Amino acid sequence: MIPAPCKLALCPHCGGKTEIVQIASGNTFGAWLWSDSKQIAPMLPQVSPVQKCPTCGHYFFIKEARFIEGDTYSDEEGWLSFDEAIEAFDELMTDDRRHIDEWNAMIRIDKYDEDSKAFKTWLHNNKQKDQELLTIIIAWAFNDMIRNGETPSQEQYEVFKTTVSSNLKQPILSNNQLLRAELYREIEEFDECLATLENFNPEDDFLANIKKDIIDRAQKRDNKVFVIIKGYD
Ligand SMILES: [Zn+2]
Repeated sequence: MIPAPCKLALCPHCGGKTEIVQIASGNTFGAWLWSDSKQIAPMLPQVSPVQKCPTCGHYFFIKEARFIEGDTYSDEEGWLSFDEAIEAFDELMTDDRRHIDEWNAMIRIDKYDEDSKAFKTWLHNNKQKDQELLTIIIAWAFNDMIRNGETPSQEQYEVFKTTVSSNLKQPILSNNQLLRAELYREIEEFDECLATLENFNPEDDFLANIKKDIIDRAQKRDNKVFVIIKGYD
């Protein structure tokens, strides 16, 4: 891996700077792939799509941030802890202001009509994408505790179960049956997990093996995230 000077993401709330790792080149050598779809690659840093501003403590989507070039090196990826991920979900899913700003910028009129059908549809689709991404971030943050050898508290597990369950009931992740099924397994909705995989018949052996692993574990009432690939060559 060849590192490069970091980027600085500017917080949309206060303008504070967040250091973000940047590389000139990398590869997936030694990467681990987990059943919740998270890949951890020592030679290919992955930046969290949601960041917490170190200055004001608000959360923002990296896709919505402006950047400037830094002049130092940093290995910051900005992944949130589980408790932060829950806070980020609450903050970002209840704040429509940034969507309205984006809409106004897009149609180049400094005013939006909240009753317009086009705006409502666009807002709904945007929020659904955010909800999907935030649900995955919550699941990854929860499983990160297990990956790091920590034991989540019972309270954290209950929050994880309730949040993921209510989001899986929405039509999100609909084109990713494996991940849907895996998340149902992790929140101990084993029957939903098995039902989700009933009509999923991948031709590809790699996916078929993952499906089999998830089913075996669901049948044993095992809810733990597991490793699919331990270090790519
Ligand atoms: Zn800030």
